[in-house]
Amino acid sequence: MPAALTGAIEDARMDGVTTDPDAQELDLLLVSACLLGVACRFDGQSCPAPETANLAAWGKVVAFCPEVAGGLPTPRPPAEIEEAAAGLDGHAVLDGRTRVVRNDGIDVTVPFVKGAQAALDLVRQLRIRRAILKANSPSCGAGRIHEGRFEGTLVPGDGVAAALLRRNGIQVVTEIDLSGGKS
Ligand code: SF4
Repeated sequence: MPAALTGAIEDARMDGVTTDPDAQELDLLLVSACLLGVACRFDGQSCPAPETANLAAWGKVVAFCPEVAGGLPTPRPPAEIEEAAAGLDGHAVLDGRTRVVRNDGIDVTVPFVKGAQAALDLVRQLRIRRAILKANSPSCGAGRIHEGRFEGTLVPGDGVAAALLRRNGIQVVTEIDLSGGKS
């Protein structure tokens, strides 16, 4: 198991949220479905991560894709948070200060916010307190997202679902955090 993941689990124990496979009561983790091998990405692919595969083997993860839950099809055109380069991220989307747009200019803010709300509803229902989300995504990205011009540049910020989960006290990390920062 990667040291960073072990560290995250130790942190969880300190928080009283154990993910110890030997524990009687394991806490559920919300995980981006594409990290668990579900082909729900915009391009119809998945992006499985070894760290989340370990967690899935323990049977205590809940796979979820906010964009699909928000009603978007797979595959779908790529979308980014408009004005992310100016510092507007998923929080600004939730506040109505910017939009999520596809690369053909179509506004997909409504399904992105709907999917984020569905993620929040799910973690509340299952009393989930931690999430491992896909890095850099306009929904799931946490700490870094694409700049909003489809140029492949990353800027600081949260995706829409990550922002809503954070606002509601959910601890969010990405698979890159778990791998010690290596993408
Ligand atoms: Fe993966 Fe999240 Fe994008 Fe769905 S919305 S494909 S779970 S990164």
